[in-house]
Amino acid sequence: MKTFCALFTQILFLLSAIAVSAQSKPTADLIITNAKVWTVDKVNPTAQAVAVLGDRVVGVGSNADVEAWHGANTRMIDAAGKLLLPGFNDAHVHFVSGGLQLDAVQLNDATSPEEFARRVGEQVKKTPKGEWIVGGDWDETKWNPAKLPTKELIDPVTPDTPVFVSRYDGHMSLANSVALRLAGITAHTKDPPGGVIVHDAQGNPTGALKDAALDYVNKVIPPLSHEQRLRAVKRALAHAASLGVTSVQDMNPDYPDIAAYSELLQRGDLTMRIYAAPLITQVDDQAKIGIGHAFGGPFLRIGALKAYADGSLGSSTAYFYEPFTDQPSNHGLLSDEMQPLSLMRDRMMKADAAGLQLCTHAIGDQAISMILDIYTEVAQAHGDADRRFRIEHAQHMAAKDFDRFAQLRVIASVQPYHAIDDGRWAEKRIGHDRASRTYAFRTFLDHGVHLALGTDWDVAPLNPMLTVYAAVTRATLDGKNRNGWFPEQKLTVPETIEAYTMGSAYAEFQEKEKGSITPGKLADLVLLSDDIFSIPQEKIRDVQVLKTIVGGKIVWAALTEGGKSVGP
Ligand SMILES: [Zn+2]
Repeated sequence: MKTFCALFTQILFLLSAIAVSAQSKPTADLIITNAKVWTVDKVNPTAQAVAVLGDRVVGVGSNADVEAWHGANTRMIDAAGKLLLPGFNDAHVHFVSGGLQLDAVQLNDATSPEEFARRVGEQVKKTPKGEWIVGGDWDETKWNPAKLPTKELIDPVTPDTPVFVSRYDGHMSLANSVALRLAGITAHTKDPPGGVIVHDAQGNPTGALKDAALDYVNKVIPPLSHEQRLRAVKRALAHAASLGVTSVQDMNPDYPDIAAYSELLQRGDLTMRIYAAPLITQVDDQAKIGIGHAFGGPFLRIGALKAYADGSLGSSTAYFYEPFTDQPSNHGLLSDEMQPLSLMRDRMMKADAAGLQLCTHAIGDQAISMILDIYTEVAQAHGDADRRFRIEHAQHMAAKDFDRFAQLRVIASVQPYHAIDDGRWAEKRIGHDRASRTYAFRTFLDHGVHLALGTDWDVAPLNPMLTVYAAVTRATLDGKNRNGWFPEQKLTVPETIEAYTMGSAYAEFQEKEKGSITPGKLADLVLLSDDIFSIPQEKIRDVQVLKTIVGGKIVWAALTEGGKSVGP
């Protein structure tokens, strides 16, 4: 049988070699037929079939059109009428944090102390010796009675493993006895200023630590090892593949994160494309090497910098012209990078002179305005160039600044999921007038501003279907705005898909390489379970990914019958 197979393969090989030389044209490695192809290419907006050779799209058209690419070794996929889109490009993620969170113990929905202890015990089995168990986001108010957890609850299942699991609000954590011992906390340890060590009736620490007391333990937790980082990235890659995310733009990675991406790339295990933007505080490093924006190859690029102008709306630290509606003496906080302002200006001048791209977190209207001022000065100082300044979040706009955004050709890198999340309470914080220019996606488009879409994962879910759902419905998560919170700012499904593919590609200088299904571009594709252009919009969030293809390779496929899926 073996001999026959070998012989048969040889004959096939010969035949295909003859076929190739006869046609004198290479054949496709992959052809997808019977699809509803939405290309995001204005020249050829819809199609039925796509041919891929190597990592590139070579043919887009009808089944008959791409048949010319069909060869003996072409893998054929019948899409059975499903929707095929360019892969999603998430313009703003925190990729390693996301991967770490996926593998961390999940305690938020543990509804009893027993369940809490059981989950910590399960995590011990998955945790290599010497590593800490952290994260968790527990919430004892979901228990009856609502009593703070103690080390006695988890010590029996964690005899050798240090545990420091946090409450969901980040203001309290629970340490087990191993962690308390490593941190040197005993019955005699004093509360630090601004912190509390909770004690039991006998005066012994219960393991619960509050605010500044968290530092006692945090400072003895070792930094992430290279192995932990690789594990987190691999976990995140598998998650991204299952969701149809084929590119991400990674905001403020640590340098060792980029080293992990690079190692996986060299091993051939990087199944998604990454553009990394380390912090602007490290501007000298990239400037010294002399690289510019989008330096690298199709799977890994650097050459961008992430800056912070202010805080967030949720913590009332976004920097506004006027005070918060519910806090008349507070109008937010500028980040330390902005104090003094000349510090930020100098760094941005240096970055721009080196040809590096600027991606600045700015949420409050005054913070956005101040960054636009600096961008203006930078552009004036260095002359006209294709620099693609970005503002990350661009959440609360002053009416006067939409025009400036357009004139400076600044990209609004926005996260629609935040709108349906914050939309539950934002108006109470900032009032109706400012809320009307909040997540103002439609106004940006009307002004000709480039939109790039993303999630801010792991602050919000990575699932692109939730982002599309959010952008087109603006229906807040509490179910209170079924017709949309400030519905005049809704995007259409085609606009959302364009911003999530071509828009994000433009934001990383890659619109000629990806973002649409166009001959010559990278074959990054996603096949969906439903046609998001025609189903009721509230159903978009339930749409599943059937296949994810990156550079012509299938990196994820759902088995449509039987539930289990295969991944990289
Ligand atoms: Zn972020």
